[in-house]
Amino acid sequence: MSIISATELARALIRCPSVTPQDAGALKVLETALAPAGFACHRLTFSEEGTADVDNLFARIGESGPHLCFAGHTDVVPPGDEDAWLHPPFEAVIEDGVLYGRGACDMKGEVAAFAVAALHWARDNAGHLPGSVSLLITGDEEGVSINGTRKVLGWMDEEGQIPDACIVGEPSCSGELGDTIKNGRRGSVNFFITASGVQGHTAYPEKALNPVHALARLVDRAASARLDEGNADFQPTTVAFSTFDVGNPAPNVIPREARATCNIRFNNEHTSASLERWISDLAAQVADETGAHFDIVKQVSGESFLTTSGPLVETMIEAIVRETGITPELSTGGGTSDARFIKDYCPVAEFGLVNETIHQVNERVLVDDIERIARIYRRMIDAFFARQGAAA
Ligand SMILES: [Zn+2]
Repeated sequence: MSIISATELARALIRCPSVTPQDAGALKVLETALAPAGFACHRLTFSEEGTADVDNLFARIGESGPHLCFAGHTDVVPPGDEDAWLHPPFEAVIEDGVLYGRGACDMKGEVAAFAVAALHWARDNAGHLPGSVSLLITGDEEGVSINGTRKVLGWMDEEGQIPDACIVGEPSCSGELGDTIKNGRRGSVNFFITASGVQGHTAYPEKALNPVHALARLVDRAASARLDEGNADFQPTTVAFSTFDVGNPAPNVIPREARATCNIRFNNEHTSASLERWISDLAAQVADETGAHFDIVKQVSGESFLTTSGPLVETMIEAIVRETGITPELSTGGGTSDARFIKDYCPVAEFGLVNETIHQVNERVLVDDIERIARIYRRMIDAFFARQGAAA
């Protein structure tokens, strides 16, 4: 049986306009490639009140351990202004060795590449698989991430399918393929802050209590605080206010309420709980000074995590060096990914294509890079089992 090339599989995926949370046939394309080769495919659809139903796929070949999982998503962000694209975003046009399309590097290119790597590994080891390789594919990464990876992991846990290690194919490289592995991520937490005072006439401020002034003081203190200096694995924690709303149309009225939203990207020296205590303490000080009252609502996107250098990361480095000659840097920069859910179950690290054009108009990838990353993933699988075999 001949195996489809990573590039052709990526093109088939890009031709499905799977703008989150639509699937648009993308998972079917993968299933059609994997099932005939012996992968047990489970389509998992999850729903929750107030969110769209989401299709996910768990596909595994082999029944015994050790078990290596590749994780990724087939949903994509909207294409934006389609007329601004050199080639239509869902046609997967190749021109001068470059593949254009929404999702080309975030992350249908990687999904295609690790699927093809797993197919080659399964064919080359047919009848004597040294363990299992699986794919955890969600259609809900670019959206709210409620009916995706988190729930698939819950299902895998119930079914006894938790892997020994997981590689997430998010586009991790910045300049050239092979330059970066992400072995951790900063956490992200939002605080929705409401300051309340007493409404009144601006000519008689002593008879009112101005929540705008109180909130401005809190915003300034929080934004100018230095929470840490960063460390060997992480950049410093950053505090960013994304909005400050009063919405008061009357220039001669002191309003009763003012609101602000604060996003904190934090390293492993903090947790969302410790930051909640920090901002609540600051608010209590300002409340003392001003008499205003503060309500703070917390929303956690993810805690920070770090997969320290160990078998998984070493295996990945070895495969990248062998294929590209480049020694990847370990990084924890950038935003959150579904690795934030996986880290609760097994060691996880991210390696994928160059992320220069992700979420942009004219998202694109070198065809050579798709084929090379498929070979890198194949080397990662081989190195993983060689190491596990040596350890046994
Ligand atoms: Zn992505």
